[in-house]
Amino acid sequence: MKGNAPIMKVMMAAKCGFCPGVRNAISTAEEILAQPDSKKPVYSLGPIIHNKDEVERLRKGGLLTVDSVDEMDSGTALIRSHGVAPSEMEHLKDQGFQIVDATCVLVKRLQHIVQQLEADGYEVVIIGEENHPEVQGVVGCVSDVVVVATEADLDKLPRNGRLGIVCQTTQSPEHLGRMLGAIGRGSFSELKVINTLCKEAIKRQESAIELCKRVDIMFVLGGLHSANTRRLADLCKKHNQATFHLQNWDELDKSVLFGKKVAGVTAGASTPNWVIEEFVKHLEGFGEDR
Ligand code: SF4
Repeated sequence: MKGNAPIMKVMMAAKCGFCPGVRNAISTAEEILAQPDSKKPVYSLGPIIHNKDEVERLRKGGLLTVDSVDEMDSGTALIRSHGVAPSEMEHLKDQGFQIVDATCVLVKRLQHIVQQLEADGYEVVIIGEENHPEVQGVVGCVSDVVVVATEADLDKLPRNGRLGIVCQTTQSPEHLGRMLGAIGRGSFSELKVINTLCKEAIKRQESAIELCKRVDIMFVLGGLHSANTRRLADLCKKHNQATFHLQNWDELDKSVLFGKKVAGVTAGASTPNWVIEEFVKHLEGFGEDR
């Protein structure tokens, strides 16, 4: 059959893959691991990015991923782009760890904003996923805060008062808008909203939506635990039902490709280029494999 079947046309999203925050965290890790005088071992509290292949690559270079400080002995603690709560940072310092902080500047900004909102007397509200590490770090910056993921959570809000509202950086503008509309129906005397969405994440969402409307099948590459990748996949599914969230080529059930001529590919902010390139190479050659 080789040679007769049409080769799949592959189109890439205009913006996809590593964002500046993730790129900074990875290069910071590589720099520390390469320094002969850094305190060893080097730990990352939680995976440095939500991508198991990249975590494994860095593990081979000496970066140990742990779930809690209790699993760390002594050495260097690398704070990933999601950031941590100030109390956790203090705890690490008290334990004598050398700290290298690779928190994304936009997450740092969000942390400072909630502290300022609380200092100004607002009830802080975060629109985001309660269990996401970024949100947990932000929650730890203030003494009182409400996290709301969807409209179903809005009954957690106080009945009235002054709300200071921020958003997890990788939420979509559409979701933020919907949530603000629903909160606006409450009887709050003041709503102060500070836009903490990440432009990089928005650009990835917009270019993914634009692309998925033009293709027969859409692939969103990235870790299954990556919030921004999951959001990309959810958005694409709304516009193209033939959307698949995968970590790499091996996970693809090739039967979904039959009958498809044009495929779109995007990737989350924590998906390495080599994963994307490998996937595209296989996809472009798919017709030849048949
Ligand atoms: S997605 Fe945006 S906020 Fe999150 S790490 Fe990347 S640049 Fe920073």
